[in-house]
Amino acid sequence: MPSLLHAYPLDAATVDRVVTQRSPGAYVLGHKEPGRSFSIGFVGRAEGSLNVRLKQQAGATVYTAFTFQYCDTAQQAFEAECTVFHTFAPPHNKSHPARPANGDWKCPGCKIYG
Ligand SMILES: [Zn+2]
Repeated sequence: MPSLLHAYPLDAATVDRVVTQRSPGAYVLGHKEPGRSFSIGFVGRAEGSLNVRLKQQAGATVYTAFTFQYCDTAQQAFEAECTVFHTFAPPHNKSHPARPANGDWKCPGCKIYG
C-alpha cells in the first residue's frame, strides 16, 4: 500500500520530480498540513502511467497532497487500491474500485468479485 509517511504537494512539477518511473501504481490523495499527519481523501490507481494519472489529478481535485506506490502490473495496482479502500475507507471513494470488464481480478479485501 502507498507509504503514508511521505506525502508530497499535488502539483505537476512535484509529480515529475518524485514519480519518475513509467509504471502502473496506486495513489492516495488527501491533505497534509504542516505538523499534522496526512489525511486520506481518495484512493485511485493508474494501470498505465502513474505519473500521467497524477498530473491529470493535479488541479482537478480539492486535494493538495498525494502519496503513491509503484506496482509491477495493472492488477497489482488494483489490489493495492482495494487494500487502501478497505483499510481506510477514503471519504471521496463512493464505490468499490472497479476492475476492467475483461479482467477476472479478485479483491484482496472482500468477496465483491467472488
Ligand atoms: Zn473489495
